[in-house]
Amino acid sequence: MSKRLDFLREEISGMKKSGLYNEISVLESKQGPRVRIKGKEVINLASNNYLGFANHPNLVSAARRALDEWGYGSGAVRQICGTMEIHEQLEREISKFKDEEACQVFVSGIAANMGTIQALMGEGDVILSDELNHGSIIDGIRLTKAEKKVYKHLDMADLEKILRETKSARRRLIVTDGVFSMDGDYCPLDSIVELAEKHDALVMVDDAHGDGVLGKDGRGTADHFGVAGRVDVDMGTLSKAFGSLGGFVAGDSVLIDFLHQRARSWLFTTSHPPSVAAASIAAIQTVQKEKHHLKNLWDNAKFLKNGFDGLGFNTGQSKTPITPVIVGESAVAQELSRELFKEGVFAKPIVYPLVAKDKARIRTIVTAAHKKEDLDKVLSAFEKCGRKET
Ligand SMILES: *Cc1c(COP(=O)(O)O)cnc(C)c1O
Repeated sequence: MSKRLDFLREEISGMKKSGLYNEISVLESKQGPRVRIKGKEVINLASNNYLGFANHPNLVSAARRALDEWGYGSGAVRQICGTMEIHEQLEREISKFKDEEACQVFVSGIAANMGTIQALMGEGDVILSDELNHGSIIDGIRLTKAEKKVYKHLDMADLEKILRETKSARRRLIVTDGVFSMDGDYCPLDSIVELAEKHDALVMVDDAHGDGVLGKDGRGTADHFGVAGRVDVDMGTLSKAFGSLGGFVAGDSVLIDFLHQRARSWLFTTSHPPSVAAASIAAIQTVQKEKHHLKNLWDNAKFLKNGFDGLGFNTGQSKTPITPVIVGESAVAQELSRELFKEGVFAKPIVYPLVAKDKARIRTIVTAAHKKEDLDKVLSAFEKCGRKET
Protein backbone atom coordinates (compact mmCIF):
# COMPACT_ATOMS: atom_id res chain seq x y z
CA MET A 1 0.00 0.00 0.00
CA SER A 2 1.84 3.04 -1.22
CA LYS A 3 1.28 6.23 0.72
CA ARG A 4 2.08 8.13 -2.44
CA LEU A 5 -1.20 6.86 -3.92
CA ASP A 6 -3.31 8.33 -1.11
CA PHE A 7 -4.44 11.10 -3.44
CA LEU A 8 -6.19 8.43 -5.53
CA ARG A 9 -7.94 7.03 -2.43
CA GLU A 10 -9.21 10.52 -1.70
CA GLU A 11 -10.37 11.03 -5.29
CA ILE A 12 -12.25 7.73 -5.22
CA SER A 13 -13.97 8.35 -1.91
CA GLY A 14 -15.03 11.75 -3.25
CA MET A 15 -16.54 10.06 -6.31
CA LYS A 16 -18.38 7.58 -4.09
CA LYS A 17 -19.78 10.35 -1.88
CA SER A 18 -21.16 12.28 -4.83
CA GLY A 19 -22.60 9.17 -6.51
CA LEU A 20 -20.23 9.40 -9.49
CA TYR A 21 -18.41 6.14 -8.86
CA ASN A 22 -19.46 3.42 -11.29
CA GLU A 23 -19.28 -0.26 -10.42
CA ILE A 24 -18.25 -2.64 -13.18
CA SER A 25 -20.91 -5.19 -14.05
CA VAL A 26 -19.33 -8.54 -14.85
CA LEU A 27 -21.00 -10.88 -17.34
CA GLU A 28 -20.97 -14.53 -16.29
CA SER A 29 -22.23 -15.58 -19.71
CA LYS A 30 -21.80 -14.73 -23.39
CA GLN A 31 -22.90 -11.32 -24.63
CA GLY A 32 -26.52 -11.49 -25.76
CA PRO A 33 -30.14 -10.41 -25.24
CA ARG A 34 -30.10 -12.26 -21.93
CA VAL A 35 -26.98 -12.39 -19.81
CA ARG A 36 -26.06 -13.66 -16.34
CA ILE A 37 -24.85 -11.07 -13.85
CA LYS A 38 -24.36 -11.73 -10.11
CA GLY A 39 -25.78 -15.21 -10.63
CA LYS A 40 -29.01 -13.89 -12.08
CA GLU A 41 -30.29 -14.16 -15.63
CA VAL A 42 -31.39 -10.72 -16.80
CA ILE A 43 -32.69 -9.17 -20.01
CA ASN A 44 -29.84 -7.06 -21.31
CA LEU A 45 -30.61 -3.52 -22.48
CA ALA A 46 -27.12 -2.17 -21.92
CA SER A 47 -25.03 -3.47 -24.83
CA ASN A 48 -24.24 -1.97 -28.24
CA ASN A 49 -24.80 -5.38 -29.81
CA TYR A 50 -27.57 -3.91 -32.02
CA LEU A 51 -27.76 -6.71 -34.57
CA GLY A 52 -26.98 -9.51 -32.16
CA PHE A 53 -23.79 -10.16 -34.13
CA ALA A 54 -21.47 -10.57 -31.11
CA ASN A 55 -22.35 -14.26 -31.21
CA HIS A 56 -23.71 -14.70 -34.72
CA PRO A 57 -22.60 -18.14 -36.02
CA ASN A 58 -21.20 -16.56 -39.21
CA LEU A 59 -18.80 -14.43 -37.15
CA VAL A 60 -17.86 -17.24 -34.80
CA SER A 61 -17.10 -19.68 -37.62
CA ALA A 62 -15.21 -17.06 -39.65
CA ALA A 63 -13.03 -16.34 -36.61
CA ARG A 64 -12.44 -20.06 -36.07
CA ARG A 65 -11.44 -20.63 -39.71
CA ALA A 66 -9.07 -17.67 -39.56
CA LEU A 67 -7.45 -19.06 -36.40
CA ASP A 68 -6.66 -22.26 -38.31
CA GLU A 69 -5.47 -20.48 -41.44
CA TRP A 70 -3.66 -17.42 -40.03
CA GLY A 71 -2.96 -18.36 -36.42
CA TYR A 72 -3.69 -16.22 -33.39
CA GLY A 73 -1.52 -13.11 -33.08
CA SER A 74 -0.62 -10.63 -35.82
CA GLY A 75 2.84 -10.03 -34.41
CA ALA A 76 3.55 -6.47 -35.50
CA VAL A 77 2.19 -3.03 -36.24
CA ARG A 78 0.49 -2.63 -39.61
CA GLN A 79 3.35 -0.76 -41.28
CA ILE A 80 6.16 -3.12 -40.27
CA CYS A 81 4.90 -6.68 -40.82
CA GLY A 82 1.48 -6.81 -39.16
CA THR A 83 -0.57 -6.37 -42.33
CA MET A 84 -1.95 -9.72 -43.48
CA GLU A 85 -4.05 -10.21 -46.59
CA ILE A 86 -7.09 -10.62 -44.36
CA HIS A 87 -6.64 -7.11 -42.91
CA GLU A 88 -6.68 -5.63 -46.40
CA GLN A 89 -9.59 -7.82 -47.42
CA LEU A 90 -11.60 -6.30 -44.56
CA GLU A 91 -10.70 -2.80 -45.75
CA ARG A 92 -11.85 -3.60 -49.29
CA GLU A 93 -15.08 -5.05 -47.89
CA ILE A 94 -15.81 -1.87 -45.90
CA SER A 95 -14.92 0.42 -48.86
CA LYS A 96 -17.39 -1.45 -51.03
CA PHE A 97 -20.07 -1.38 -48.33
CA LYS A 98 -19.59 2.35 -47.77
CA ASP A 99 -19.18 3.06 -51.50
CA GLU A 100 -15.90 4.85 -50.89
CA GLU A 101 -12.54 4.49 -52.65
CA ALA A 102 -10.60 3.31 -49.65
CA CYS A 103 -10.71 2.42 -45.97
CA GLN A 104 -8.33 2.15 -43.06
CA VAL A 105 -9.07 -0.08 -40.08
CA PHE A 106 -7.78 0.98 -36.66
CA VAL A 107 -7.67 -1.22 -33.56
CA SER A 108 -10.70 0.59 -32.13
CA GLY A 109 -13.07 3.46 -32.77
CA ILE A 110 -11.36 5.67 -30.24
CA ALA A 111 -8.02 5.03 -31.98
CA ALA A 112 -9.62 5.94 -35.33
CA ASN A 113 -10.88 9.27 -34.00
CA MET A 114 -7.71 10.19 -32.19
CA GLY A 115 -5.39 9.24 -35.04
CA THR A 116 -7.46 10.81 -37.79
CA ILE A 117 -8.19 14.18 -36.20
CA GLN A 118 -4.61 14.50 -34.96
CA ALA A 119 -3.23 13.72 -38.42
CA LEU A 120 -5.53 16.03 -40.39
CA MET A 121 -5.60 19.18 -38.32
CA GLY A 122 -2.88 21.43 -36.95
CA GLU A 123 -1.83 24.96 -36.13
CA GLY A 124 -3.91 27.59 -37.92
CA ASP A 125 -6.85 25.22 -38.42
CA VAL A 126 -10.27 25.33 -36.76
CA ILE A 127 -12.32 22.32 -35.69
CA LEU A 128 -16.07 22.88 -35.36
CA SER A 129 -17.51 20.33 -32.96
CA ASP A 130 -21.07 19.59 -31.81
CA GLU A 131 -21.36 20.22 -28.06
CA LEU A 132 -22.51 16.64 -27.41
CA ASN A 133 -19.81 14.87 -29.41
CA HIS A 134 -18.34 11.64 -28.06
CA GLY A 135 -15.34 11.71 -25.72
CA SER A 136 -13.09 10.09 -28.31
CA ILE A 137 -13.66 13.02 -30.69
CA ILE A 138 -12.93 15.46 -27.89
CA ASP A 139 -9.70 13.60 -27.11
CA GLY A 140 -8.76 13.59 -30.81
CA ILE A 141 -9.19 17.36 -30.91
CA ARG A 142 -7.02 17.72 -27.77
CA LEU A 143 -4.14 16.08 -29.63
CA THR A 144 -4.00 18.88 -32.20
CA LYS A 145 -2.84 22.48 -32.10
CA ALA A 146 -5.99 23.46 -34.00
CA GLU A 147 -8.48 25.82 -32.45
CA LYS A 148 -11.68 24.21 -31.21
CA LYS A 149 -15.08 25.88 -31.67
CA VAL A 150 -18.09 24.17 -30.12
CA TYR A 151 -21.48 24.69 -31.73
CA LYS A 152 -24.83 24.12 -30.04
CA HIS A 153 -26.19 20.61 -30.36
CA LEU A 154 -27.58 20.11 -33.91
CA ASP A 155 -27.90 23.90 -34.27
CA MET A 156 -27.22 24.69 -37.95
CA ALA A 157 -27.60 28.45 -37.47
CA ASP A 158 -24.92 28.39 -34.80
CA LEU A 159 -22.69 26.20 -36.99
CA GLU A 160 -23.04 28.60 -39.92
CA LYS A 161 -22.35 31.59 -37.70
CA ILE A 162 -19.06 30.02 -36.61
CA LEU A 163 -18.23 29.10 -40.22
CA ARG A 164 -18.64 32.77 -41.14
CA GLU A 165 -16.47 33.88 -38.23
CA THR A 166 -13.60 31.52 -39.02
CA LYS A 167 -13.11 32.29 -42.73
CA SER A 168 -9.47 33.20 -42.22
CA ALA A 169 -8.47 29.78 -40.86
CA ARG A 170 -6.09 27.68 -42.93
CA ARG A 171 -8.50 24.72 -42.99
CA ARG A 172 -11.70 23.88 -41.18
CA LEU A 173 -13.16 20.54 -40.13
CA ILE A 174 -16.73 20.05 -38.97
CA VAL A 175 -16.89 16.94 -36.80
CA THR A 176 -20.05 15.34 -35.45
CA ASP A 177 -21.47 12.11 -34.15
CA GLY A 178 -23.89 10.59 -36.67
CA VAL A 179 -26.10 9.19 -33.89
CA PHE A 180 -25.69 10.60 -30.38
CA SER A 181 -25.37 7.85 -27.83
CA MET A 182 -27.05 9.46 -24.83
CA ASP A 183 -30.30 10.60 -26.49
CA GLY A 184 -30.48 8.42 -29.60
CA ASP A 185 -31.01 11.46 -31.83
CA TYR A 186 -28.98 12.07 -34.98
CA CYS A 187 -27.35 15.01 -36.73
CA PRO A 188 -28.92 16.60 -39.85
CA LEU A 189 -26.01 15.38 -41.96
CA ASP A 190 -27.49 16.65 -45.23
CA SER A 191 -27.57 20.22 -43.90
CA ILE A 192 -24.10 19.88 -42.41
CA VAL A 193 -22.70 18.69 -45.75
CA GLU A 194 -24.38 21.59 -47.56
CA LEU A 195 -22.98 24.13 -45.11
CA ALA A 196 -19.54 22.55 -45.43
CA GLU A 197 -19.63 22.72 -49.22
CA LYS A 198 -20.87 26.31 -49.14
CA HIS A 199 -18.12 27.41 -46.74
CA ASP A 200 -15.38 25.11 -48.03
CA ALA A 201 -14.93 23.10 -44.83
CA LEU A 202 -14.23 19.38 -44.42
CA VAL A 203 -16.80 17.09 -42.79
CA MET A 204 -16.08 14.16 -40.52
CA VAL A 205 -18.87 12.00 -39.12
CA ASP A 206 -18.42 9.48 -36.32
CA ASP A 207 -20.97 6.80 -37.09
CA ALA A 208 -20.28 4.41 -34.24
CA HIS A 209 -24.01 4.15 -33.48
CA GLY A 210 -25.21 4.66 -37.07
CA ASP A 211 -23.27 1.91 -38.83
CA GLY A 212 -25.30 -1.28 -39.00
CA VAL A 213 -28.34 0.65 -37.77
CA LEU A 214 -29.26 3.46 -40.20
CA GLY A 215 -29.44 3.55 -44.00
CA LYS A 216 -29.75 0.76 -46.57
CA ASP A 217 -28.46 -2.49 -45.03
CA GLY A 218 -26.97 -0.41 -42.21
CA ARG A 219 -24.68 1.74 -44.38
CA GLY A 220 -24.98 4.51 -41.83
CA THR A 221 -26.05 8.11 -41.35
CA ALA A 222 -24.59 9.40 -44.66
CA ASP A 223 -26.62 6.83 -46.59
CA HIS A 224 -29.72 7.60 -44.50
CA PHE A 225 -29.49 11.29 -45.50
CA GLY A 226 -28.52 10.59 -49.12
CA VAL A 227 -25.10 12.23 -48.78
CA ALA A 228 -22.85 9.16 -49.07
CA GLY A 229 -19.69 10.18 -50.93
CA ARG A 230 -20.00 13.81 -49.79
CA VAL A 231 -18.64 13.20 -46.30
CA ASP A 232 -14.86 13.61 -46.42
CA VAL A 233 -14.09 11.43 -43.42
CA ASP A 234 -16.65 8.69 -42.78
CA MET A 235 -15.55 7.15 -39.50
CA GLY A 236 -17.22 4.11 -37.98
CA THR A 237 -16.72 1.23 -35.66
CA LEU A 238 -16.82 -2.54 -35.97
CA SER A 239 -17.29 -2.83 -32.22
CA LYS A 240 -20.98 -2.06 -31.95
CA ALA A 241 -23.63 -3.25 -34.43
CA PHE A 242 -21.04 -5.36 -36.23
CA GLY A 243 -20.33 -7.30 -33.04
CA SER A 244 -16.56 -7.35 -33.48
CA LEU A 245 -13.76 -4.91 -32.65
CA GLY A 246 -12.13 -2.04 -34.51
CA GLY A 247 -12.60 1.46 -35.86
CA PHE A 248 -12.39 2.54 -39.45
CA VAL A 249 -12.20 5.58 -41.70
CA ALA A 250 -13.63 5.36 -45.22
CA GLY A 251 -13.05 8.02 -47.87
CA ASP A 252 -10.97 9.02 -50.89
CA SER A 253 -7.74 7.05 -51.45
CA VAL A 254 -5.65 10.17 -50.95
CA LEU A 255 -7.08 10.52 -47.42
CA ILE A 256 -6.22 6.92 -46.54
CA ASP A 257 -2.81 7.17 -48.20
CA PHE A 258 -2.06 10.18 -46.00
CA LEU A 259 -3.42 8.59 -42.79
CA HIS A 260 -1.19 5.56 -43.42
CA GLN A 261 1.77 7.93 -43.08
CA ARG A 262 0.54 10.13 -40.24
CA ALA A 263 -2.11 8.58 -37.99
CA ARG A 264 -0.13 7.85 -34.85
CA SER A 265 -2.77 5.61 -33.22
CA TRP A 266 -2.44 3.36 -36.28
CA LEU A 267 1.31 3.59 -36.79
CA PHE A 268 2.28 2.77 -33.22
CA THR A 269 -0.01 -0.11 -32.35
CA THR A 270 -0.19 -3.80 -33.23
CA SER A 271 -2.85 -4.86 -35.71
CA HIS A 272 -5.87 -7.01 -34.89
CA PRO A 273 -5.53 -10.75 -34.55
CA PRO A 274 -6.55 -12.12 -37.97
CA SER A 275 -9.60 -13.80 -36.41
CA VAL A 276 -10.95 -10.34 -35.53
CA ALA A 277 -10.54 -9.16 -39.12
CA ALA A 278 -12.21 -12.34 -40.39
CA ALA A 279 -15.20 -11.94 -38.07
CA SER A 280 -15.55 -8.30 -39.13
CA ILE A 281 -15.64 -9.34 -42.80
CA ALA A 282 -18.35 -11.86 -41.93
CA ALA A 283 -20.33 -9.12 -40.15
CA ILE A 284 -20.23 -6.74 -43.13
CA GLN A 285 -21.33 -9.56 -45.44
CA THR A 286 -24.02 -10.85 -43.09
CA VAL A 287 -25.77 -7.50 -42.62
CA GLN A 288 -26.18 -7.30 -46.42
CA LYS A 289 -27.27 -10.94 -46.88
CA GLU A 290 -29.54 -11.50 -43.89
CA LYS A 291 -31.91 -8.56 -43.96
CA HIS A 292 -34.07 -9.71 -41.05
CA HIS A 293 -31.58 -8.59 -38.38
CA LEU A 294 -31.96 -4.92 -39.25
CA LYS A 295 -35.72 -5.29 -39.56
CA ASN A 296 -35.97 -7.00 -36.16
CA LEU A 297 -33.84 -4.28 -34.61
CA TRP A 298 -36.16 -1.52 -35.79
CA ASP A 299 -39.34 -3.48 -35.03
CA ASN A 300 -38.08 -4.09 -31.49
CA ALA A 301 -37.01 -0.46 -31.09
CA LYS A 302 -40.43 0.83 -32.17
CA PHE A 303 -42.26 -1.65 -29.97
CA LEU A 304 -40.25 -0.70 -26.90
CA LYS A 305 -40.44 3.04 -27.53
CA ASN A 306 -44.20 2.90 -28.04
CA GLY A 307 -44.46 0.82 -24.87
CA PHE A 308 -42.50 3.37 -22.81
CA ASP A 309 -44.51 6.24 -24.27
CA GLY A 310 -47.72 4.37 -23.51
CA LEU A 311 -46.65 4.03 -19.88
CA GLY A 312 -46.08 7.79 -19.75
CA PHE A 313 -42.27 7.75 -19.62
CA ASN A 314 -40.24 10.56 -21.19
CA THR A 315 -38.13 9.09 -24.01
CA GLY A 316 -36.81 12.46 -25.17
CA GLN A 317 -35.60 13.05 -28.73
CA SER A 318 -34.73 9.47 -29.63
CA LYS A 319 -34.98 8.53 -33.32
CA THR A 320 -32.94 5.31 -33.17
CA PRO A 321 -32.83 2.07 -31.13
CA ILE A 322 -31.16 4.03 -28.32
CA THR A 323 -34.12 4.91 -26.10
CA PRO A 324 -33.50 6.90 -22.94
CA VAL A 325 -36.05 6.83 -20.15
CA ILE A 326 -35.45 10.25 -18.63
CA VAL A 327 -36.31 10.46 -14.93
CA GLY A 328 -34.56 13.67 -13.78
CA GLU A 329 -32.56 13.22 -10.57
CA SER A 330 -29.42 11.06 -10.58
CA ALA A 331 -30.48 9.23 -7.43
CA VAL A 332 -33.82 8.32 -9.00
CA ALA A 333 -32.12 6.87 -12.08
CA GLN A 334 -29.70 4.87 -9.95
CA GLU A 335 -32.46 3.49 -7.73
CA LEU A 336 -34.64 2.65 -10.74
CA SER A 337 -31.78 0.71 -12.32
CA ARG A 338 -31.34 -1.31 -9.10
CA GLU A 339 -35.07 -2.04 -8.89
CA LEU A 340 -35.18 -3.10 -12.54
CA PHE A 341 -32.31 -5.51 -11.93
CA LYS A 342 -34.32 -7.16 -9.16
CA GLU A 343 -37.10 -7.62 -11.73
CA GLY A 344 -34.64 -9.23 -14.16
CA VAL A 345 -33.88 -6.23 -16.39
CA PHE A 346 -30.34 -4.91 -16.83
CA ALA A 347 -30.20 -1.26 -17.92
CA LYS A 348 -27.62 1.28 -16.82
CA PRO A 349 -28.31 4.64 -15.24
CA ILE A 350 -26.68 7.56 -17.08
CA VAL A 351 -26.09 10.53 -14.81
CA TYR A 352 -24.15 13.80 -14.61
CA PRO A 353 -21.55 14.54 -16.00
CA LEU A 354 -22.52 12.32 -18.96
CA VAL A 355 -25.85 14.16 -19.18
CA ALA A 356 -27.21 17.35 -17.59
CA LYS A 357 -27.88 17.20 -13.82
CA ASP A 358 -31.68 17.23 -14.23
CA LYS A 359 -31.70 14.80 -17.18
CA ALA A 360 -30.54 11.59 -15.49
CA ARG A 361 -31.90 8.56 -17.23
CA ILE A 362 -31.95 4.86 -17.78
CA ARG A 363 -30.54 4.26 -21.23
CA THR A 364 -31.91 1.29 -23.09
CA ILE A 365 -30.50 -0.22 -26.26
CA VAL A 366 -32.65 -3.00 -27.61
CA THR A 367 -31.16 -5.48 -30.08
CA ALA A 368 -32.38 -7.55 -33.02
CA ALA A 369 -31.92 -10.66 -30.87
CA HIS A 370 -34.50 -9.71 -28.20
CA LYS A 371 -37.73 -11.69 -28.30
CA LYS A 372 -41.23 -10.28 -27.94
CA GLU A 373 -41.53 -11.93 -24.52
CA ASP A 374 -38.32 -10.17 -23.40
CA LEU A 375 -39.79 -6.82 -24.36
CA ASP A 376 -43.10 -7.54 -22.62
CA LYS A 377 -41.14 -8.39 -19.50
CA VAL A 378 -39.12 -5.17 -19.82
CA LEU A 379 -42.24 -3.05 -20.07
CA SER A 380 -43.93 -4.64 -17.08
CA ALA A 381 -40.75 -4.22 -15.03
CA PHE A 382 -40.55 -0.53 -15.96
CA GLU A 383 -44.23 -0.11 -15.15
CA LYS A 384 -43.84 -1.72 -11.74
CA CYS A 385 -40.56 -0.02 -10.74
CA GLY A 386 -41.28 3.30 -12.41
CA ARG A 387 -44.52 3.70 -10.49
CA LYS A 388 -42.56 3.33 -7.26
CA GLU A 389 -39.88 5.81 -8.33
CA THR A 390 -41.68 8.69 -9.99
C1 LIG B 1 -18.22 3.68 -28.89
C2 LIG B 1 -17.90 4.90 -29.62
C3 LIG B 1 -16.61 5.10 -30.12
C4 LIG B 1 -15.48 4.17 -29.83
O1 LIG B 1 -15.56 2.98 -30.55
P1 LIG B 1 -14.74 1.71 -30.05
O2 LIG B 1 -14.60 0.88 -31.28
O3 LIG B 1 -15.55 1.06 -28.98
O4 LIG B 1 -13.44 2.22 -29.56
C5 LIG B 1 -16.38 6.24 -30.86
N1 LIG B 1 -17.36 7.13 -31.10
C6 LIG B 1 -18.60 6.96 -30.63
C7 LIG B 1 -19.65 7.97 -30.93
C8 LIG B 1 -18.92 5.85 -29.87
O5 LIG B 1 -20.14 5.70 -29.38
